[in-house]
Amino acid sequence: MPQLRRFKPYTGPSFRRAQIIRLGRLLDMEYKPSEIADEIGIDVSAVYQSYLPNGCPHRRDKNNHIWIHGTSFAGWVKEIVERNKKVPGFPLDEDEAWCVKCCKVVTMLDPHERKIKTNLNMIYGKCSVCSGKVNRLKSGKVK
Ligand SMILES: [Zn+2]
Repeated sequence: MPQLRRFKPYTGPSFRRAQIIRLGRLLDMEYKPSEIADEIGIDVSAVYQSYLPNGCPHRRDKNNHIWIHGTSFAGWVKEIVERNKKVPGFPLDEDEAWCVKCCKVVTMLDPHERKIKTNLNMIYGKCSVCSGKVNRLKSGKVK
């Protein structure tokens, strides 16, 4: 059953700093998933459950074994890391919100704040891309 609402949109695999540093060890050659996992210090299940379904470059040989090219993999991880930086890693800027229609962070037009609870405001605005309604929560008092 699909999860209906997540507070934080799923942004795909994430990598720790130590793992990113280890990418430098990967060579211009093909690795088995278990070898890649060893090299960068992750569990091999992450390769199968997270990386491959999320677009990690790989190939299957005729025996259905998966091979991952070291430097291509490193490039892919760096792309993900860059992308994750731009995705609502939060904090968003004051005038930004997540647009459900555009599936990305957008600038809010005509933002206005309304108090919905003690120390919790909702900012309502319009998506600068699709003009749909966007809103976000903000803690703090109404100015
Ligand atoms: Zn939008």
